[in-house]
Amino acid sequence: MDKILVIVEHKNGLLKKVSQQILGFISDFCRQSEKKILVLIYGEKIAERLFEEVASWGADEIITIENQCFANYNPAIFIPTIADVIKKNSPQLVFFGNTAVGRDLSPRLAQYFNSYMISDVIDIKIEKDKFCFTRPVYGGKLFEEVETNGELVFVTVRPNSFGNSVNYHKNPHIYNIEPKAITNFSYMVSDILRKESEEKSLSEAEIIVSGGKGLKSAENFVLLEELARVLGAAVGASRSAVDAGWRPYSSQVGQTGKTVKPKLYIACGISGAMQHLAGMSTSQVIVAINKDPEAPIFKVADYGIIGDLFEIVPVLTEELKKIFKD
Ligand SMILES: Cc1cc2nc3c(=O)[nH]c(=O)nc-3n(C[C@H](O)[C@H](O)[C@H](O)COP(=O)(O)OP(=O)(O)OC[C@H]3O[C@@H](n4cnc5c(N)ncnc54)[C@H](O)[C@@H]3O)c2cc1C
Repeated sequence: MDKILVIVEHKNGLLKKVSQQILGFISDFCRQSEKKILVLIYGEKIAERLFEEVASWGADEIITIENQCFANYNPAIFIPTIADVIKKNSPQLVFFGNTAVGRDLSPRLAQYFNSYMISDVIDIKIEKDKFCFTRPVYGGKLFEEVETNGELVFVTVRPNSFGNSVNYHKNPHIYNIEPKAITNFSYMVSDILRKESEEKSLSEAEIIVSGGKGLKSAENFVLLEELARVLGAAVGASRSAVDAGWRPYSSQVGQTGKTVKPKLYIACGISGAMQHLAGMSTSQVIVAINKDPEAPIFKVADYGIIGDLFEIVPVLTEELKKIFKD
């Protein structure tokens, strides 16, 4: 059991941020231990540059499943094939992003192996080969620490929970496996209907414009959507804005929402409660717009604008439009 398997996800020929973050973290650890990193990449087509990217995170082996059946997530097909990879390699830990696929796949595999899963992990401590995982419980009111005893465990990691890692290039052994033939299944995903949406994923976004109770209504979020459009940003929200029904839960940033780590986070009408900061304070640059000079958000902001967001945001949008036109 000297192996760690990371099941990665990719989009447009690039690793998803969460997969990159898991690989970076595991690579940092494996450099000082005897453990080997196995990476499983699946898809209908796997872009060449993905191999380079995965190799740059110290992967010892890259196992690919390049097949039409793996174009879309389909547990009936995925489980038996991935279970075979696990049986053949006997990893100690299997990592996934805490994404829609990771959240569905990991408990099914844990059940298949009569094993355990630890979900939504936000921190990992490793001492003498013993892993201790931290995860929020009771809607983020408490944090639980879970230790493993060396048996096979499935782990999902919350996006943007780990710090930056340094690349560590290896020349991994790469091989492809064929999906296992399915002879009997209780159900099968026959098609995936994608919602037509231009909304950017918060976890992946490089720029986020976020709004809070200071926006005063759902309709006023149009101001942030316009600013976000100019910047190519995603729109986030505080829990108060989500609880008020102004934004969907999927846009909530914070302890009980998403953890984000964009290059630029613009907080508009957000006070900066600790539960909100828990989800965004590691953003590279934070800009806060708030009419209250005492608002705690200014303590973490790199740039603060004290004033009425209803006056400031439209001016900012117009000025940025001019800059990006040039
Ligand atoms: C267990 C638990 C988990 C939680 N999880 C989360 C979480 O994941 N995410 C999260 O965000 N919160 C979370 N909260 C809630 C958190 O404690 C705060 O209540 C919430 O973040 C406040 O949201 P807000 O800043 O939008 O609203 P407020 O605190 O009401 O702040 C509104 C701000 O807008 C400013 N403002 C008002 N009008 C204007 C204007 N015209 N121009 C400029 N500024 C203006 C005000 O000065 C004020 O600072 C959690 C709480 C608990 C107990």
